[in-house]
Formats: sequence, structure tokens, C-alpha cells
Amino acid sequence: MPVKPFKLRCRFCNQPVDWPPQQPRCPRPVCRGPLQPKRNIVFDATLIEPALTGMWRYRHLLPPVPDTPISLGEGGTPLLPLHPRDNCLIYVKDETLNPTGSFKDRGAAFLINTIQGDDKIVIDDSSGNAGAALAAYAARCGRAARIFIPAEAPEGKKRQIRRFGAELMLVTGGRDAVARAADAFSRQPNVFYASHVWHPGYALAMQTIAWEMWEQLGRRVPEWVVLPVGNGSLLRGLRWGFRSLQKARHIQQLPRLVAVQAAACAPLLARSQNDYHAGSFTGAPTIADGVAISNPPLIDAMWAAVRKTNGLVVTVSEQEIERAQTELTRSGFWVEPTAALPYAALPYIQPHLSPNDAIVLIFTGHGLKAA
Ligand SMILES: [Zn+2]
Repeated sequence: MPVKPFKLRCRFCNQPVDWPPQQPRCPRPVCRGPLQPKRNIVFDATLIEPALTGMWRYRHLLPPVPDTPISLGEGGTPLLPLHPRDNCLIYVKDETLNPTGSFKDRGAAFLINTIQGDDKIVIDDSSGNAGAALAAYAARCGRAARIFIPAEAPEGKKRQIRRFGAELMLVTGGRDAVARAADAFSRQPNVFYASHVWHPGYALAMQTIAWEMWEQLGRRVPEWVVLPVGNGSLLRGLRWGFRSLQKARHIQQLPRLVAVQAAACAPLLARSQNDYHAGSFTGAPTIADGVAISNPPLIDAMWAAVRKTNGLVVTVSEQEIERAQTELTRSGFWVEPTAALPYAALPYIQPHLSPNDAIVLIFTGHGLKAA
């Protein structure tokens, strides 16, 4: 298979950047904006490799990686019916069944395959799941990893990162302080900053969730996709993935993306109401630790993903999250509190539904992580 050159550009200043970028942001020091594909990706179903398992069946639809990618078997997660309700079909895309128990494995697996230089240490800042994923893939290929994590992150997540042999850097002062610590360290030589927030490869890997959904539903997409949103890599990746199907005329209409946040910390809701000022939003603590992000750096791109899919921003209370988590266990799904957000949001989506609308809830992280 010939390797097609894949180009990126800065969202802010249009600076062209070759694939694979060795730093996650625009290389111009005065800019440091987010990178994105230079052109819209057009899905080509003839490039699917049916012999490969998981997300690598789409490897020729993604930017180039080595012929034998480092893998732990990520992707290829089941799409299961939750239960029929009010004429609507509700499905679960169960990303908890990835190797380290969260959707972040797709992004970490993809990034680990783009690093140039065997001696590079990999780092990320994370509320837990992205750190665990990167630690696992670093272990898989014998790289050192250093993960910056909020001091108050759940013990289960810290334990998981340590288990994979990564160095854990506990940072106080909230999620924004954790990101600043990682960013400062990333300027040292021989560091690959595998930022799940900034590196475009992370969100590009999330397209595979959209493509799997399309295949699993018999080459169609649901009317709605509901997901927890913190820093927005899943949200942006889903939009790119569905749009690539639309560009190829495989689908007429994009699914409406519903971004769910904890009411205690909902900067995207504020942004949607033109009531958000970058850097100064203060969220309260929430049990949904995976989305406890007060100032997501890519909030404008996140809001664009919701707006351009005619989607919704929904917030749910702590009580609603706890109740959703408990109710899901009665259907056999044990998810962490963050991953219960889509189910908790269902009553708020109900008034917007048309008869026979199909809904996919993305379960992002396993309940064992928060145990
Ligand atoms: Zn730039």
C-alpha cells in the first residue's frame, strides 16, 4: 500500500506541519495553536483491511504508521442495545472493553506509533485514563513514561499507571496546573509530549469509533451520539470521523453530537451561552473526575463540533450521575462515574427526539478504575 503524504495545519495561523508532528502544537513559538488535518478526510471503504482486528482495520484511512503497529488489541469494541424505550433505539458503544479499560487506548496506541527516536521518554498530563493508556503502551514498547496527574485523582487510576511502570508526578492546584507542569517538562530534549488534549493524532484515532459504529449499524449512523466531554478529543474525533463518511457520501446527515458535562463543572455549557472567558472559569469538584476540566484549551473547536452537528450541551447533577451509574449496573454495565454521564443525560435529550431515532451512548471508562 503506497503511503500517501498526510499534512496538518495550525488552526490559528495556518502553518503547514508534516505528519507525524514531534510536538503536539503549532511549532511557531508565538502561536502554539492546535493542529488539525489540512484537508477534510474522505472515507474510502475499499481501504478497510478486514484481516486486521480492532482499530487497525482502518489503518490506511489514518495518517501513516509503521507496517507492524505496536498494539494491545485496542478498538473493535461491541455495539450493544441498552433497551428499547419510547420508540427509540438506544445502543451502547462499550469502550470500557479496551485494553486499559477506556477509549483513551485508541489515541495512546496511535501516538506511540508516531514517535521518531528510540530514546524518547513519553509524557502526558491526565486526570487518569489517558495516563494509564500511555503508560501501558510505553511499557509495551519498552519506553520510559512520566505521567503528570492531579494529586486528588482516584487511587485506582494512580495504581494502574504505577503498575505499568510509569513515573507518576502528582501535581496540586487543579487540572490546569497539571497541564502547565507537563508543558514545562515537555520543553526538555528527548521528550515526546503525547498530549491527548493537543496532539491531533489523538483525536484522529477517535475517528475509528465513528467508523466502527457505521459498520456495526449496517453502514448507517445513529441520529444521536451521546458522550462525556472534558478536553474534547473524543468529541472532535467523532465529528471528523462522521464528516469523512459524509464527504464520501456514505451518509447524508451527521449524527447530532450531545456533549455531556457535570453541572458542577460545565465550561462548554457556558461557552454555548456566550458566558465563558478563557482561563477564568472555575468549576466545582465532581465525581465525574474524567471531565473535571475547567478551562479546556480547545473549547472553541469543541463548541464547533456540537454546533456544526446540530448537537446539544447537556449537564447533569452529581445525584443524577450516581443514580445513572447504579442503574447501569442493573443492566450489567459497570462504568466509572464519568462514563455514566451519557445515560444520565437521556431524560434531557428525550424532548428533542423524533420517532425511531437511534441513539448511541459511549461508555468511556470501566467501573473498576474508580473502585
Ligand atoms: Zn500556529
